[in-house]
Amino acid sequence: MGGTAGVGEMERILVSVRLRPLSEKEIEANDPAEWECISDTTIIFRSSHPDRSMAPTAYAFDRVFGSKCTTKQVYEEAAKEVALSVVSGINSSIFAYGQTSSGKTYTMSGITEHTVADIYDYIKRHPERAFALKFSALEIYNEAVRDLLSMDCTPLRLLDDPERGTIVEKLREETLKDGNHLKTLLALCEAQRRIGETSLNEMSSRSHQILRLTIESSAREFLGKDNTSTLSASVNFVDLAGSERASQALSQGTRLKEGCHINRSLLTLGTVIRKLSKGRNGHIPYRESKLTRILQPCLGGNARTAIICTICPAQSHIEQSKNTLLFASCAK
Ligand code: ADP
Ligand code: MG
Repeated sequence: MGGTAGVGEMERILVSVRLRPLSEKEIEANDPAEWECISDTTIIFRSSHPDRSMAPTAYAFDRVFGSKCTTKQVYEEAAKEVALSVVSGINSSIFAYGQTSSGKTYTMSGITEHTVADIYDYIKRHPERAFALKFSALEIYNEAVRDLLSMDCTPLRLLDDPERGTIVEKLREETLKDGNHLKTLLALCEAQRRIGETSLNEMSSRSHQILRLTIESSAREFLGKDNTSTLSASVNFVDLAGSERASQALSQGTRLKEGCHINRSLLTLGTVIRKLSKGRNGHIPYRESKLTRILQPCLGGNARTAIICTICPAQSHIEQSKNTLLFASCAK
């Protein structure tokens, strides 16, 4: 990296912000929208108090999406290129970062669907290659890793493989038959994903979810021969736990511990991403959290990364929204 970086390593991390519409609850509660996207790349904060005469604060990112933008648009402009690099043998990760109820799951599940549709379309248009798609899904909850395709809740161990790097021991990997097969598996994951009740939002999720699609392909003319034409890469769809501070979302007892772990994972991810975005040569602390250990092969190096930061427009969430934009700014 740094001055001697190869082309792939010079790639910046693609950082976008998506503003969701006000919810019915927020409208009913007269909780006004304080944010507005004024161009494709700029979002502003309109302070309605205490001093209206102050100029609005502007934040610029690679791309910002206002409350009227569709998930398809977000996919096309903030994720597609990064996600589809997988068909060329390049690993990638797409993250949704933001406080609980800001739209992470809404955004990430749409992006996953659009990516899969485009991958199947690509396969159809390339009959000269044979493709195999594999899918795995895991959850990191309280720094314990669990298989979302298995009913068994036993935490999985991370192992260091000399060739493949960190692997999740015994993680189920399904070979996909078609798009419908994947839909069934996604529904299973959703049912399995742990949902915790917190004082901030009764449906808030306290865990990180990683869905991983691995694509292998080889030219048919070399099939069955000793060949070097096989490509293999993974794309990760990462729906992060709510970024709100533990102190705000937690109730007590076990929640406190969960909060600390979630913060540590997010903190480490933040450090890793900040260092990667600066192209630093120095030590990158992948090993300090389960999340970054698992994602290491798909972060940095040749891998491509897109981060979509989701924010709530409402006044009551201003501090959290500013924290999210601060994270986004540091990733640029
Ligand atoms: P998170 O995963 O960050 O906790 P969700 O994705 O569950 O948040 O979104 C919270 C609620 O807001 C859900 O009911 C979801 O359908 C809705 N929502 C989120 N983003 C949008 C959007 N861009 N447009 C319309 N509804 C949205
Ligand atoms: Mg969610």
